[in-house]
Amino acid sequence: MPVDRPSDILIAGAGIAGLTAALAFCARGFDVQLFERSPELREIGAGLQLSPNATRILDRLGVLGDLETVAVHPPAIVLRRARDLRELARVPLGQQAEARWGASYLVVHRADLQKALLEVVSRQETIRVETGATVLGMTAGADGVAVSVQTGNAMPGSGARTVPGRLVVGADGVWSGLRRALYRRGGDSHFAGHVAWRRTLAAEHPLAAGLSLGHSVNAFLHPGFHLVAYPVRAGAEVNLVAFTPGKTLPEDWSASTDPEPLRRALKHTAGPLAAVADGGAAWTAWPIHTAGANHPWINPHGLALIGDAAHAMTPFAAQGAAMAIEDADTLAAFVAARPDRLAEALADWEAARQPRIRRVAGRGAFNHFVWHAAGPVAAARDLVLRMRPADRLMADFDWLYGWKPPAP
Ligand SMILES: Cc1cc2nc3c(=O)[nH]c(=O)nc-3n(C[C@H](O)[C@H](O)[C@H](O)COP(=O)(O)OP(=O)(O)OC[C@H]3O[C@@H](n4cnc5c(N)ncnc54)[C@H](O)[C@@H]3O)c2cc1C
Repeated sequence: MPVDRPSDILIAGAGIAGLTAALAFCARGFDVQLFERSPELREIGAGLQLSPNATRILDRLGVLGDLETVAVHPPAIVLRRARDLRELARVPLGQQAEARWGASYLVVHRADLQKALLEVVSRQETIRVETGATVLGMTAGADGVAVSVQTGNAMPGSGARTVPGRLVVGADGVWSGLRRALYRRGGDSHFAGHVAWRRTLAAEHPLAAGLSLGHSVNAFLHPGFHLVAYPVRAGAEVNLVAFTPGKTLPEDWSASTDPEPLRRALKHTAGPLAAVADGGAAWTAWPIHTAGANHPWINPHGLALIGDAAHAMTPFAAQGAAMAIEDADTLAAFVAARPDRLAEALADWEAARQPRIRRVAGRGAFNHFVWHAAGPVAAARDLVLRMRPADRLMADFDWLYGWKPPAP
């Protein structure tokens, strides 16, 4: 098998985690080779909320400038009752968020974030990106690591080459092959019982206008679903994502499927909300899978899983991409602090990250419980939310959005 010249860091996957890791390692003087299975980086996914804990890092890595031109700064997160669209609570964002948490709260299209990351990556001489390159597996030992990489349309196993390095970063997403190889048994992701229904509307579309969203992030709460809506693409489009219980679907970001379960879930809600469930093929469905927060993410000889590959979580706290960004930056910082004691650096990084990831995943579970409450629990929730001053609502997020990287 042909062997490439070595790179310090070998990254599998050019999603949010992999691209951020490439920049974070490059900024600390490492040379990086990044392999992406897809022949080109397609426009997949939909809206993402990027909270200050993530934008602070993107700013430091030089990505925010490009992103700001297409992102929206929402003035607030507004919680509303789906039954009658009544406002229950308003968490101020905008300048108040910046003053409190030291960085901006943005909403973007995932493709715009990926493009902004790629723009900055492509300006770095010490990062090589290869698309149409699938990481088939890796070896790790006292002498270093190596990945086997297959390019083009060759039959699996044929036409592969070996690329040696010091550290493999597994950023290959929720269906990570490197995670499966690390665990040997039990490395598959698990269907979490929920389906995410996504569609975008032109901002001036009557269905969007009917919801009176303003530029805020709006979350509509209901026992059978919740729906989140916010502007993307510099305000030209509105991203809608609804979560219902459901059955698993094929492994595809954009599986088009009959939105009948969504229509049923939204049937007895306020008219403008029920109306958005129509639109057939305009909706895509995405099964929510989770993986691995309590399993190892490292091989001390030179593998670290990051982002969804390490710990895919439900999106109910809107933090999956943010955690991928935090993982990438902290991993680079821990490795840079002790490049000659890699095993120690990786173990310390994992020990520092796992409690945070568990807490964030727990916040997602809590949001799901509260947002889908019914009967007297929902009535109590509504009362508490309406009475809570804005400052207290913001304080609930200090630990999450005000986070600063730990010292390596
Ligand atoms: C409905 C929904 C809403 C969400 N909303 C938010 C939100 O508001 N805020 C937020 O922070 N997060 C949100 N998330 C979560 C967020 O989208 C993910 O956590 C994040 O995109 C994960 O990034 P990643 O880079 O780890 O994985 P991915 O984006 O999946 O990237 C993995 C990459 O690896 C490549 N790859 C796979 N296997 C190989 C291989 N063998 N060799 C080479 N390349 C390979 C893939 O092609 C892909 O490009 C949401 C998720 C969902 C489902």
